[in-house]
Amino acid sequence: MTEKFDAIVVGAGVAGLASAYIMAKEGLNVIVIEKGKYPGSKNVMGGVLYCHMMEEIIPDFWKDAPLERPIVEQNFWLLGKKSVVKTGYRGMEWEKSPYNNFTVFRGKFDHWFAKKCIEVGALIINETVVKECIVENNKVIGVRTDRPDGDIYAEVVILADGVNSLLAKNLGFHNEWRKDQVALAVMEELKMPSEKIEERFNLDKGMGATIEIFGDGTLGMVGTAFIYTNKEHISIGCGTLLSQMCNRNVKPYELLEYIKHHPIIKPLIEEGESCEYYAHLIPEGGYNSIPKLVGDGVIVVGDAAQFVNGIHREGSNLGMTSGRFAAETMIRAKRMDKFDAKTLSYYQDLVKNSYIMKDLRKYKNASNTMESNPQFFNHYIPAANKVMSEMFTVDGISKSKKQKLAIKHVTSGRSIFSLARDGLKIWRAMK
Ligand SMILES: Cc1cc2nc3c(=O)[nH]c(=O)nc-3n(C[C@H](O)[C@H](O)[C@H](O)COP(=O)(O)OP(=O)(O)OC[C@H]3O[C@@H](n4cnc5c(N)ncnc54)[C@H](O)[C@@H]3O)c2cc1C
Repeated sequence: MTEKFDAIVVGAGVAGLASAYIMAKEGLNVIVIEKGKYPGSKNVMGGVLYCHMMEEIIPDFWKDAPLERPIVEQNFWLLGKKSVVKTGYRGMEWEKSPYNNFTVFRGKFDHWFAKKCIEVGALIINETVVKECIVENNKVIGVRTDRPDGDIYAEVVILADGVNSLLAKNLGFHNEWRKDQVALAVMEELKMPSEKIEERFNLDKGMGATIEIFGDGTLGMVGTAFIYTNKEHISIGCGTLLSQMCNRNVKPYELLEYIKHHPIIKPLIEEGESCEYYAHLIPEGGYNSIPKLVGDGVIVVGDAAQFVNGIHREGSNLGMTSGRFAAETMIRAKRMDKFDAKTLSYYQDLVKNSYIMKDLRKYKNASNTMESNPQFFNHYIPAANKVMSEMFTVDGISKSKKQKLAIKHVTSGRSIFSLARDGLKIWRAMK
């Protein structure tokens, strides 16, 4: 293939497809290269897809896209060994357009999104691995694929190759990710009739709910477990920093089995028939791990750029927005007929002034703070469960004595100084 494209997009995940769609719609000559059998075949996501960012790419996409359930209820559980403290929000405003978010199966969604890209003129090549970027005089001028005669050339290469991001690493944009910069997530799809899902999660027909679980859901490790409702499946999974799993010598499938058999969780998933199992890394390094984002002829987007906000379970939206920004940068560069790093740094400015960088900067120390302070997960969450249990047990003990006991549970083994320090740490990590 000797034709030169305006842009090569490596990876047909949501970030790559978002950039390809916008560039192709604008009339640019775009090729997307995907190693999977089809777009989505390699992609793992729980997963909740955020409408606002998708609407910015394809307005009213929800009328046509393969979606599971609009989420009308989001729950947060502090899980103990045999108990749970629950909080959450249910909003009827999320039942209709403009929807907030939907559960999706990325296998189906990305496949649909890729078809939309083809409709506006993008070329998508599946089952092709990009081995490296072709660099000449420090400028990326194309990619080398695993196909015979598989060198392809373009003005700009957009690296949307996901969390491992080997191509950006080979360009020297970042080092090998450390174990505390990525989380390992495992999840399973359990088939269940839609009426049963609605009955168990107290949902109106067709509506959905999510549960994020902290504490015993990850055996006290930094991370979360989750349950999401799809049309006829429940997604259940968990993810913790890879460093935590290694230190504790916990195998991902053991953790998943543990939560599936947890007495609080089991009744929700009982009789669910296991039909898919996935494991995948999630970039969790956040702000401090963001690699170099642009070079001469190259832009990095999505997970490849570590654009995931783990605190808020957001990744697909950051991927779509960064893909859109890369496309807008490329369209501008094409008008200027300049594809050097300085021109492409417009992308960096867009990212910097958006919610992506603002949110990642806000939580830049959160993951480290949690990892170096295991008490947040393995002391305060069990203590919260104990306090609630005692408060709600009517046993003739006076309420003022119960309040004193509650303070004792929370403070047990911790000095007033360490409590104050913990408060300060959590405030700093979340401020
Ligand atoms: C278990 C789990 C649950 C999640 N839940 C949520 C959620 O509920 N909500 C949310 O917003 N986010 C969630 N995320 C995060 C979200 O999935 C990612 O942030 C998002 O998929 C990033 O999109 P991307 O396009 O950057 O990367 P990806 O979706 O990973 O796409 C990268 C693509 O590049 C291809 N590729 C890689 N290397 C090459 C190569 N050399 N040549 C050719 N092709 C290549 C891959 O096959 C893949 O298709 C979850 C992630 C996991 C693992």
